[in-house]
Formats: sequence, structure tokens, C-alpha cells
Amino acid sequence: MYSIETRCIHGEKHNNPDQNYSISFPIYQTASFSHLTPGHNPTGFDYSRESNPTRRYLEETMSSLEGANDTIAYASGMAAISAFFEYFSPGDHILCGEDLYGGVVRLIELVCKKNRYEVEYVDTTDINAIEKNIKPNTKAIYFETPTNPMMKETNIPEVAKIASKYNVLVAVDNTFMTPYFRNPIKDGADIVLHSGTKYISGHNDTVCGFLCCKTKELSDRFRLLSKTTGATLGPFECWLVLRGLKTLAVRMDRHSSNAREIKAWLEKRDDVDNVFYAGSGMISFYVNSADKALSILKNIKLITFAESLGGTESLLTYPVVQTHPDVPVEQREKIGINDRLLRLSVGLEAPSDLIDDLEKAFNV
Ligand SMILES: *Cc1c(COP(=O)(O)O)cnc(C)c1O
Repeated sequence: MYSIETRCIHGEKHNNPDQNYSISFPIYQTASFSHLTPGHNPTGFDYSRESNPTRRYLEETMSSLEGANDTIAYASGMAAISAFFEYFSPGDHILCGEDLYGGVVRLIELVCKKNRYEVEYVDTTDINAIEKNIKPNTKAIYFETPTNPMMKETNIPEVAKIASKYNVLVAVDNTFMTPYFRNPIKDGADIVLHSGTKYISGHNDTVCGFLCCKTKELSDRFRLLSKTTGATLGPFECWLVLRGLKTLAVRMDRHSSNAREIKAWLEKRDDVDNVFYAGSGMISFYVNSADKALSILKNIKLITFAESLGGTESLLTYPVVQTHPDVPVEQREKIGINDRLLRLSVGLEAPSDLIDDLEKAFNV
């Protein structure tokens, strides 16, 4: 098998199944596909909600990168995560990491509880806490590593060992590390989720999501669910993501080297209390007052004050207001999300220009 850098560009097979041998995979902008005669459909494609050649090529590429049996591309990360939570039945117990993307907490509180799932939040960095909270009706453990925004790391192989003892699914949101830095399936996870909006597409121009399955049994179930609920990714977006993916390896190398330079600069400052960094291009940090945080947000010029992450442009986010306002205050404070916390998605600009911009905004 080719190395990951090569598979980002050529997929697994390096052959373009399109008849005209275009270098860039074509956009099959069609809703439906013709059948030759009743019962004779040589392409296997029927209708683009269910399957589409551009989407299939993207899904095969993602499966190759994540070491998955099969992958489904969704219209957003939240659509993929919603599909994951559709898998369960009333009365099922799901253990979730206590430091999750805010939208996932909203999904759990507004939708999963209505579906009468029992959801409990645990500190998944504490393996004993996971085992202690497993019950006879526990069906899955769902977490992010590193967490957003506090960058706490969970040991996937250790979680997988406990989960297999109790026959519980392990689902990991791999948005922050990407398959370039980590393959949760190889570490023992059953399901990998992505907000492809972030590093996978990488240019702050597309919203998409992925659900990658270790086994055919899982992907058969999720294919039926995605065909039924319908939030699959359109052909043009699939093409944009394929284009973004080609540079994943070079982007991730540069995101992380830029981030390391900025982390070193932040750690030297007296007005920065803590810096949280777990790899890739994401850094969170506490400044010494809420006023300071607001002043920095107001005075950055090159770096943009915006939600989201993982793209070529550096974005600074205020989690307490932008990404986590729906998380109950008590839970938020326990995790460490307060009005002094800023989260920086380090882009691909020259690190000297980024540091210059931060320096001016910090020193106003
Ligand atoms: C952004 C994000 C999501 C949600 O994905 P969307 O593409 O915005 O729907 C889920 N998990 C993590 C870790 C994210 O950063």
C-alpha cells in the first residue's frame, strides 16, 4: 500500500475509474442514473441520495486514509454525528466524554434525551472512571481526543481494551488529529467521526462530515440509516473535499510547525497563564483577564475572529460565547471553559506575520 501522503492524492488504487481518464475526478452532478432494462443496472448507481460516483470516490479515499472498511460522507460533521446517535434504541446507555464539541452536547440534550437514551458524561482520560460507569445497557463510548477546546488526550487502545471486555462500541471524533496524525481504527476504535469542514477539506470553504466504520456489519447499518435520513454530501462538495485532501499531508505538517512556533511565543508571555497544545494546528490558552481576551479579539487584524478551525486562514475563537454557549455553565466551568479562554486555529500564513499580529493585539 502507498504511504499516506500518496493516498491523499491518488486514493488507494491510483486509477481513475472514469472512462475519459481525467486527472481530477469528475463531478457527477446528477440526481439519478439510468438503468438499461428492468433489473439490469451495470453501474450500481440509482439515486444520488443513496450513492453517487464522486461521493463514492471520496468515501473510498477516506476509508483508505482511516483504515476503515467503509466510510459515509455527510452534509456536515453534525449530520455524521447525528447518524451515529441514530444507531441506538430507547433505554440504551451511552458514555460520552465530558469535554465535547458544543453542538454535540446540544444534540445529546435536545435529541438523544428525547429518544430516551441514557447519556452520561465521564472524564475519558481516566480509564478507571470509564470502567466504573459501564452498565449492562451500555452500548457505546463516544469521545474526542484531543478534546475541544481543552486539548485533553484519551488513550484509545486502553479504552478499546475495556470496551471489548464489555462488548461496547468505541467511537472517536478524529477531527483535530486527522488520519495524517492518528488512525483510531488501528488503535481499536469501531467508528471514526470527522467534521470534514475542518482539516480534511482545509480551506474554510466547505461544510461536510464523515463516519468511518471498522466492519461491514456497522457500515451496512449506517448506509441504511444515511439512505433513509438523507443527509449525504452533494457531488460538488465531494469534489471540493477531494481537492482539499490532496494537500492534507503538507498542510498538517505546516499547521503543526506554525503552531509550535506560536505556542513557544505564548508560553513566554506574562499575560498568558496556560497554553494547551496536543499536536496539529490547534492551541487554546488562558489570558490573565476577560478584558484582555476581549481586547485581543478586537485588535487582531491578520488573524480573524471567527468560529471553525483547520483551514488555511488563522481563526481565533472565543469558546465561551461562540462554540460552547449551550453547554450548561456548571459543566462548562468544570471543564475549564471560562471568559479568559481563547482558541487559536493556526493557519498556513507565515508564522512571523501571525506572531506580529498577536504581539500588536496583546500589547494594545
Ligand atoms: C466542527 C466540529 C464538529 C461539527 O462539525 P460540523 O461540520 O460543523 O457540523 C464536530 N466535532 C468537532 C471536534 C468539531 O470541531
